Amino acid sequence: TSANPDQPEFLQAIDEMAQSIGDWYGKQKDFRKSRIFQRLAEPDRVISFRVCWRDDKGVLQHNRGWRVQFSHILGPYKGGLRFAPSVTESILKFLGYEQIFKNALTGLPMGGAKGGSNFDPKGKSPAEIERFCQSFMTELSRHIGPDIDVPAGDIGVGQREISLLYGHYLRLSNTWHGALTGKGCNFGGSAVRTEATGYGCVYFCCEMLSHNDMEIEGKRIAISGSGNVALHAAEKAIDMDATVLSVSDSDAVLEFKDGLTKKDLGKVKTLKGKGGRLSDLSIGKFHKGKKPWNLECDIAMPCATQNELDEDAAKTLVEAGVSAVCEGANMPLTAKASEIFRRKGILHAPGKAANAGGVAVSGLEQSQNAMRQSWSAEKVDQELRDIMKKIHGEIVSADAGKKQLSYVDGANLAAFKRVAHAFHSFGSF
Ligand code: NDP
Repeated sequence: TSANPDQPEFLQAIDEMAQSIGDWYGKQKDFRKSRIFQRLAEPDRVISFRVCWRDDKGVLQHNRGWRVQFSHILGPYKGGLRFAPSVTESILKFLGYEQIFKNALTGLPMGGAKGGSNFDPKGKSPAEIERFCQSFMTELSRHIGPDIDVPAGDIGVGQREISLLYGHYLRLSNTWHGALTGKGCNFGGSAVRTEATGYGCVYFCCEMLSHNDMEIEGKRIAISGSGNVALHAAEKAIDMDATVLSVSDSDAVLEFKDGLTKKDLGKVKTLKGKGGRLSDLSIGKFHKGKKPWNLECDIAMPCATQNELDEDAAKTLVEAGVSAVCEGANMPLTAKASEIFRRKGILHAPGKAANAGGVAVSGLEQSQNAMRQSWSAEKVDQELRDIMKKIHGEIVSADAGKKQLSYVDGANLAAFKRVAHAFHSFGSF
């Protein structure tokens, strides 16, 4: 804590890990002696740089860009890029730290990283976004490569931005290789990468429900967000005959009492693809300034951003009889909200497990690029299902023997053990 007093999100992530693994770690004499936990909480490096770009009026603007290369113990650095005004070094360090363990859970050879900028893409013209992406990549290109660090998208960085970033990377490097994932399928991208995080979250949710003698069919799901993760989670949940009660953005919730239909989901997707706001739509019931956590639901699926579901929201959900919480976003629950679900024995799938489908398919994209192959959507989707099932199995066995299974502890334990054993073998690394 004393080393990072002004980085609350990063400390929150470290604290959650410490709580989950504390009992086990306390018995690992060698690991404690070589300070594995403390050393793992120290990123390999934090690259911070100025991004200068010209707006449409010809005025020079500047933002801060970062790449937190947290750990490459298990493979090349891997993790998304986020463009949002709220981005800080603390947020990128928490995301990079989580990414190490999420990637470890996939079983694929990937290290952990995260990056981005406090640039706000909202309200910017396509030309401004292009100039920003090119300037950002001018610096980032020095630090990435298929065997070094392979960034992907995140909030504010979708396929359009990845394409612009990758195009500029090709110009600068004059080499074709998969130094980014989430690319268009016609230039090296993998089928199902766009859908993978949301689909994977629903696949994980199904595994968790079935392990606990429930099924997703007929369940009422409150989803937050209306971005990549939220809309693909909604799509897969509808396919599986669940009732999707809501989507949201940072201004409002759109509620669908009888369930979001595929037709209305299509309208949301088209609108969001053009950068519109949910308030522009005339479907569902619009609740300005609200979050979806006061809807009576069986499953809460937070898919927007960190700390979006707090203690009060958790109490409301518990009172309304929620059975499961499945995190599409990274660390969407405050520590207190998480504690309430733990105390009440509510099934709670943490993001590092439930949203690992995106990075898993990114890993498959890296493999396809390295082999110069392009797999079918069916094959990738099947691999994704298998990976989510495997992650579920590992979590269950990691937390086995406890009176009550905790998916949070199980995920943290399974992932930490894998990384820590490798780290320990490297000596003074
Ligand atoms: P998008 O940018 O596509 O969508 C983000 C959504 O969250 C938007 O609807 C946005 O609304 C909403 N949102 C953002 N900030 C806030 C806020 N402060 N309060 C309420 N709503 C907010 O991002 P993604 O869908 O890609 O990412 C969502 C989450 O999933 C993030 O936590 C990300 O780290 C995580 N994730 C994403 C992966 C991926 O493959 N994309 C992989 C694994 C995790 P608005 O338009 O109003 O800003």
